[in-house]
Amino acid sequence: MSARLRDDCFALPPGVDWTPVDDALARLREGLTSVTGVESAPLAKASGRVLAEDVRAMRDNPPAANSAIDGYAFAWEALGQNVEDEANLPLQTGRAAAGHPFKGTVPSGHALRILTGAELPKGTDTVVLQEDARVGAGRVRFQPPRKGGANSRGRGEDARAGEVVLSAGRRIAPEDLARLASVGVGEVPLRKPLRVAVLSTGDELIPAGEPPVPGSIYDSNRPMLSALIAQFGHDAVDLGAQQDRAGTIRAALDQGAEDADAILTTGGASAGDEDHISRLLRNEGTVTTWRIAVKPGRPLALGFWNGVPVFGLPGNPVAAFVCALMFARPALAVMAGQAWPEPLGVTVPAAFSKAKKPGRREYLRARLTPDGRAEVFHSEGSGLIGGLSWSDGLVELPDGALDVKPGTPVRYLPYAALR
Ligand code: AMP
Ligand code: MG
Repeated sequence: MSARLRDDCFALPPGVDWTPVDDALARLREGLTSVTGVESAPLAKASGRVLAEDVRAMRDNPPAANSAIDGYAFAWEALGQNVEDEANLPLQTGRAAAGHPFKGTVPSGHALRILTGAELPKGTDTVVLQEDARVGAGRVRFQPPRKGGANSRGRGEDARAGEVVLSAGRRIAPEDLARLASVGVGEVPLRKPLRVAVLSTGDELIPAGEPPVPGSIYDSNRPMLSALIAQFGHDAVDLGAQQDRAGTIRAALDQGAEDADAILTTGGASAGDEDHISRLLRNEGTVTTWRIAVKPGRPLALGFWNGVPVFGLPGNPVAAFVCALMFARPALAVMAGQAWPEPLGVTVPAAFSKAKKPGRREYLRARLTPDGRAEVFHSEGSGLIGGLSWSDGLVELPDGALDVKPGTPVRYLPYAALR
């Protein structure tokens, strides 16, 4: 680990009881910094990774002025003043094609056959489209374009050598690889992947696929959170599903602190008898339990175990999912060296009614109708995991009261933009 976090960075000011979502996010944002080291990798391995440093162009792009079309290149100046007149220029022998620059200089008042991407030959600055030109008897005739430089791309018009083309903290997208390649960058400085351990807790949990036993439920959180972590661009470390016993959970946290940069746990985050995560962190680590004014969610235990931050998410899979997207995602992004990612929301008309009470921010499982309105799952029951797969995003209702009627503008956050 290249940087340590302060173990009091999650502490709340005295007297704070219910933490509004925005305050919780602001505290995470202030308290966390990147903890990952730096390595370098070839472009082909860089997609989805985080840039460790600003990257500068190694050369201009385009490296030379070139043609945007197939046509005929000539010098605009040589046409004279009257642009209404049809031009009639002798054709220079030869041609310019991409990868095959024309070697000589095109004499003033002459034109040369040119293909898309070819460097503009010396003596030319403008290109006329081949469909707008007539060729015959060694000459080319055309109505001149209105402007000099038409249909050409200037040297360095896309990037200048030395200019910062991508900034540190950016998560590299496929299109960024095109940008980097275009300016001659083949090797990029990257953050090492953040390792995030996932631990499920609860005596009732058994792994998916095993025969059911009385009193058991299947562990939904671990496969979901591990996959989310991978989508966020981090490496997931599996700490298993552990019984609610201090000894087992302590051993798992020790393992997590050894193998990972952050630990996500689910279950046992409240103050109940079996809430070992809160208790262990309180007694043997450091913890702040945030009662976040959010639905679904509420208890979010944030602490440190052997110097590694622990995000104690609620056990309920719907609440765990929402809290992972809204709180863990930006927090982990910062630890991984990214800029704090603001969730992308769009305002759309509601396709539902709801009288929302004041006090807690609410996230409803939602999806867009074909005409762009947000409909919500038929039940807000947070035990209904089916509503997660039914939905393709969340509607975020503000902390205050709101009387939503069909057509009321609401903020819709697509899952696709939260991954
Ligand atoms: P807890 O936060 O431990 O009180 O758990 C809240 C609810 O979520 C309980 O109904 C648990 O059975 C359930 N739950 C906890 N962890 C999981 C899990 N990994 N998968 C599915 N349900 C869970
Ligand atoms: Mg439990």
